[in-house]
Amino acid sequence: MSARFESFAVAQSENGKTSNIPQVAFGSSLEFAALRAIDAAAEACKVAACPRLPKTRGGEVGGCYAFRGHGGMAVAAAVKKERRVGAENYDGGYGVSGLRRALQAASRAAAAVRFGWIGDPSALTQEQMRDLAHEVRSTSVVTRRGPRQMALLSYTHNAEAAPWLRDSCLASVTFDVGKAHELARSGWKVALEVKRLEDAPTRIGGKTAIGCPEQVQKLRGANAGLPKVTCNTCRLCDAGVDGPHIVFFSH
Ligand code: SF4
Repeated sequence: MSARFESFAVAQSENGKTSNIPQVAFGSSLEFAALRAIDAAAEACKVAACPRLPKTRGGEVGGCYAFRGHGGMAVAAAVKKERRVGAENYDGGYGVSGLRRALQAASRAAAAVRFGWIGDPSALTQEQMRDLAHEVRSTSVVTRRGPRQMALLSYTHNAEAAPWLRDSCLASVTFDVGKAHELARSGWKVALEVKRLEDAPTRIGGKTAIGCPEQVQKLRGANAGLPKVTCNTCRLCDAGVDGPHIVFFSH
């Protein structure tokens, strides 16, 4: 690793929301090399000045689920395992080659890749992100609706400072509806987090906004016999695909 920030991919995931799809974390190369994956990711989120970064690490709002939940622990375990097994035999790893290995070893049902498992992608260079996005987008998958391009699900809290991410990431906005309108009007697909259901706008920047279908299904309780929505079946958080803005309820 020579870049200041790096990506780290895994092929498999136990994340119930996304389902079993490849996941990609972003973090500082130095911290990754020292096997401190959560610190590595925190450095990437600091670049984005993400308000959701835990307050103990300088975030304004705090509470990021990736840092407080299983996500961070899973990344840390995967980084240690990669060191133990050796990059050549590992089904994932750093950079584009790690992502390629993860894509090749992914579940046959995987139709999407999640970027930002933990860590903000804006810490990487434009070239790094271009190459990673290209790797995903040049992968074909067969879904129930026929052959499709692998979806790239990604978010940045640093949209204004990293306009080159517009094609690969949604602009994450925490509670600030005015900022969401602004970013949408400047061409971003927006992921707006609101505190309450009743705060959710139905339009952002003049275009339709909908609640995350996975969250909406969960909030409504019973699925009424419908198949469970996951990111792998929904795929709406792909900045490269025209579609509605997404509203998330605080989690
Ligand atoms: S809108 Fe779809 S892709 Fe985005 S987080 Fe929700 S379920 Fe996943």
